[in-house]
Amino acid sequence: MRNEKILVVGLGAMGSAALYHLARLGVAPIGIEQYQVGHALGSSHGHSRAFRIFYHDPLYTTLAEAALPLWQELEALSGEKLLELTGSLFFARPDNEHIEQKIGVMQALKRPYELLTAQDVAARFPALRLPEDTVACYTPQGGFLDASRCVQTHLLQARRFGATIHEQVRVDRVDLSQEWPELETSAGRYRCSRLIITPGPWASEIVESLALPLQVTRQQKFYFQPKHRAAYQPDRLPVYADGNTQFYGFPEYGLGMKAADDQLGVIASPNNIDRTLDLDKRDQLKRWLETIMPNSEFAFVTGATCMYTMTPDRDFLIGPHPHNPNVLVSAGFSGHGFKFSTLVGKILAELATGGTTEYPIDRFRLDRPF
Ligand SMILES: Cc1cc2nc3c(=O)[nH]c(=O)nc-3n(C[C@H](O)[C@H](O)[C@H](O)COP(=O)(O)OP(=O)(O)OC[C@H]3O[C@@H](n4cnc5c(N)ncnc54)[C@H](O)[C@@H]3O)c2cc1C
Repeated sequence: MRNEKILVVGLGAMGSAALYHLARLGVAPIGIEQYQVGHALGSSHGHSRAFRIFYHDPLYTTLAEAALPLWQELEALSGEKLLELTGSLFFARPDNEHIEQKIGVMQALKRPYELLTAQDVAARFPALRLPEDTVACYTPQGGFLDASRCVQTHLLQARRFGATIHEQVRVDRVDLSQEWPELETSAGRYRCSRLIITPGPWASEIVESLALPLQVTRQQKFYFQPKHRAAYQPDRLPVYADGNTQFYGFPEYGLGMKAADDQLGVIASPNNIDRTLDLDKRDQLKRWLETIMPNSEFAFVTGATCMYTMTPDRDFLIGPHPHNPNVLVSAGFSGHGFKFSTLVGKILAELATGGTTEYPIDRFRLDRPF
């Protein structure tokens, strides 16, 4: 039996961030990951995740704002470019309730935003040609994070500050009945004084005692290469989202221009998810890009499968396990967690080492009624 102080299980976006923030507090944490770190079988791989403060709920706006300086601090510390602040553009027909709600939050919190007509959008972002009756809202505090690089950077820096990583070790069972939680793994037994579980779509398996009401869905993203590339670069095109179709896309970066559908895909299981690309969805997204950017041709490059882990109320799950306060769980990021991951890591590190956090996470408690 290995006796450790603080263990983090699952090193995707949330676990890598927790490991980093713990290491910075000088507690020499151990991270356990069932696959090789940086793998593409969970929810945190790929070139881009949208960063935005344009939210339907002030809680998420303020948390995204709290995450922003942490990303910038990590960039400064590591010398890696992680966040591209292109601004974000949300557009919809005038009667769309999502855009109205989000603009309402910007107004209530007095955050900067600009309402643009279709002509304004075309003048500012030459690639975009939106329908005449479109309402568009541009927020400067938006852009995208290089997802895989963020995970890798958190892990590299965690190691630098004293963390140890055990890769390809699968946790099969967690015994919460002792004050010091015990783990059965593919590499033997561990015991620790604090345990942080950040298992992404595997959450229902590893914390089965909680019977978490989570639903895993299959999501796919597709990359397209525009024929004339200049107008599609991050300095000329923001991250854009269409409130009517719920499709969203990015400027050219990494493998091309990424586009995806934010509507929920089919229910899936992380261990046997179908990773075959949905070619109908690919074609729908290509047609959508061609509609809003009619002056270019887009060639399909590739696609990838990923998973959302949804809670019934779409709020995250972050906090102590109701049966053992020495165990912290974070899961259920409902398709929009990445931008917050460095903050979630900080919150978990604070809870594990000091028992409290300054951030407002009460809505995320695990024992809330669903
Ligand atoms: C297509 C797509 C687009 C998205 N777009 C955005 C976006 O634009 N903006 C945004 O903010 N968010 C976005 N998200 C959501 C965001 O990516 C996720 O919320 C986030 O990556 C979840 O991270 P995680 O650490 O909880 O899960 P994961 O990355 O899945 O990490 C969990 C880790 O735990 C490990 N693990 C699980 N069980 C065990 C075990 N028993 N033993 C050992 N290790 C274990 C897994 O192998 C995995 O590495 C998107 C998600 C998808 C799928």
